[in-house]
Amino acid sequence: MVKKKRDKIIDLLKNQTSGQEVLVKGWVRTRRDSKGGFSFIEINDGSCLNSIQVVADHSLASYATASPNLHTGSCVAVAGELVQSQGKGQSMEVRASEIKVYGAADAEKYPLQKKRHSFEFLREIAHLRPRTNTFGAVMRVRNCLAFSIHKFFNDRGFIYLNTPIITTSDCEGAGEMFQVTTLDMKNPPLADGKIDYSQDFFGEKTGLTVSGQLEGETYAMALSDIYTFGPTFRAENSNTSRHLAEFWMVEPEMAFYDLDDDMDLAEEFIRHLLKDVLENCPEDMEFFNKRIEPTLIETLTNIVENQFERITYTEAIHLLEKSTQSFDYSVEWGCNLQAEHERYLCEKVFKKPVILFNYPQEIKSFYMKLNEEGETVRAMDVILPKLGEIIGGSQREDDLDILTRRMKTKGLDPEQYWWYLDLRRYGSAPHSGFGLGFERLVQFTTGMDNIRDVIAFPRTPKHAKF
Ligand code: ATP
Ligand code: MN
Repeated sequence: MVKKKRDKIIDLLKNQTSGQEVLVKGWVRTRRDSKGGFSFIEINDGSCLNSIQVVADHSLASYATASPNLHTGSCVAVAGELVQSQGKGQSMEVRASEIKVYGAADAEKYPLQKKRHSFEFLREIAHLRPRTNTFGAVMRVRNCLAFSIHKFFNDRGFIYLNTPIITTSDCEGAGEMFQVTTLDMKNPPLADGKIDYSQDFFGEKTGLTVSGQLEGETYAMALSDIYTFGPTFRAENSNTSRHLAEFWMVEPEMAFYDLDDDMDLAEEFIRHLLKDVLENCPEDMEFFNKRIEPTLIETLTNIVENQFERITYTEAIHLLEKSTQSFDYSVEWGCNLQAEHERYLCEKVFKKPVILFNYPQEIKSFYMKLNEEGETVRAMDVILPKLGEIIGGSQREDDLDILTRRMKTKGLDPEQYWWYLDLRRYGSAPHSGFGLGFERLVQFTTGMDNIRDVIAFPRTPKHAKF
């Protein structure tokens, strides 16, 4: 081919000047032959939602060789001239001067046909689904959000911290950890009838992290403002549309922040990210608005432009008790709020995102700061319409005695958390943080129903293929 450097389709469609020599490489979405001796080939390279149309004259020398392999799914290179398109729906097209097929795809067998496929079916071909409009758009939006997250924190002087994936500490003490071991499963070493982990790879029992928070706190107690953004694992057997066994979590941790500061940051964060996506991914967002969720852009714009509602857990209970709506789970002070309750407050009562705060201490983790009245802790959850919880956070208990006491009442051994308690022994400071589930954010932003469809290769109970 005469031209050596590849042009991205996104640049060609933006560029409105006819006449330049271009080189397009990508995968054929459709091919149509006209009686007049031309083929119209739609090529997509994932740089944007739109494909570019290639017009190939059947008298081209390279056409005869390429033609038998020019089908949906095949990968091609096309050199030619960029011209104003005659057809409707596209701005520019390529008049081919040379076509080369890199890899053919058997039209009979290629699983992605022109028709719409169900998301369930596409999950079974998770290696090919990136070639559909929806998954291309999801991944571009996901990428935009990831970049925007780093930029948000970087602009505010936060340090990006990478906390360990293999760990000996179970952050919640809830035991939803995947175990990591090199012991022989058929014949593990025993001591006093129990598995002898001193002989395991790390010399003690280890698992995959459920949160980087505890490690994050150690660096906040030195660098002031840090955040993590990494993989997180939970062996919870919840087959819902909002839970994965492997997901990505963003966890900022800030010294000298109280709960109000924490809620301010969480709100600013979400509104900022949504604004960024609306500005930077207009085509993909239009697509989701048209094909996935008809009120999406309106909902996101409203969130960007308006403040969240903030109410205490106790106020929330009052509102739920007063409500005439019937719930599957009844409510009383002290109970865990279910998704149905959170969504009712968010969608029916306030019609906007809600931050609930000051939860009963019994239902929240040991590290959350106890309020003076001794009944509630400075915890907060951010609830979004349709999705439910997207962020869980708190001010952390910075008093050594109270923290130790709360660990014991929750059945945790303070000895095991000696290094975490050291942060309260040496130079303790008020501090706060939160965790945002990255896939839930992508889900909310795209309007996709199922969390399995916003991560490249979802891991859920009984599913770890690819
Ligand atoms: P939920 O009640 O929805 O299970 P959680 O209370 O277990 O959430 P946290 O432990 O506070 O959640 O984790 C912080 C955030 O991580 C949550 O707000 C959510 O966005 C996300 N998250 C938690 N568990 C999962 C999961 N299994 N898959 C995807 N995201 C998750
Ligand atoms: Mn959970």
